[in-house]
Amino acid sequence: MDCIFCKIAAGQIPCSKIYEDQEVLVILDIGPVSDGHTLVIPKEHCTKVHNCSSQSLSAVMTVLPKIASAVAEAVGADGYNILCNNGRAAGQLVEHLHFHIIPRKTGDGVFNHWPAFKYPQGKAEKIAEEIRARL
Ligand code: 5GP
Ligand code: ZN
Repeated sequence: MDCIFCKIAAGQIPCSKIYEDQEVLVILDIGPVSDGHTLVIPKEHCTKVHNCSSQSLSAVMTVLPKIASAVAEAVGADGYNILCNNGRAAGQLVEHLHFHIIPRKTGDGVFNHWPAFKYPQGKAEKIAEEIRARL
């Protein structure tokens, strides 16, 4: 399969490896937005959270806290974002599920734009109902 993260997991492409177990690979991002920007990747090829196996997701979530803590401490971060882009529209470029750990410094301005708005009357409950109906 022509998937960059599958190839990295198979050892066919070099990476700065941080951690590996049977189900999870953790590497430094090759195009960091801050020092220590890390990717936590299930070895199983899946594209999005909702089509990944529970086993892989559990394995990722099990290692995430330990990795996040080590990353933040290693680069002296004041905080970190955990980000998972699902689909092109959401900014996913590599179509193999991965979680970004992005170390943050106070006032670094990495994600300056957060386009929050307020729902008009009744819209939030309508959307919530649409979601509940699909669970
Ligand atoms: P996405 O936009 O899909 O959420 O993020 C993909 C990330 O993978 C990007 O931050 C990009 O820098 C990183 N990336 C793409 N190709 C490689 C690679 O070959 N090696 C590593 N370590 N990271 C990669
Ligand atoms: Zn893959």
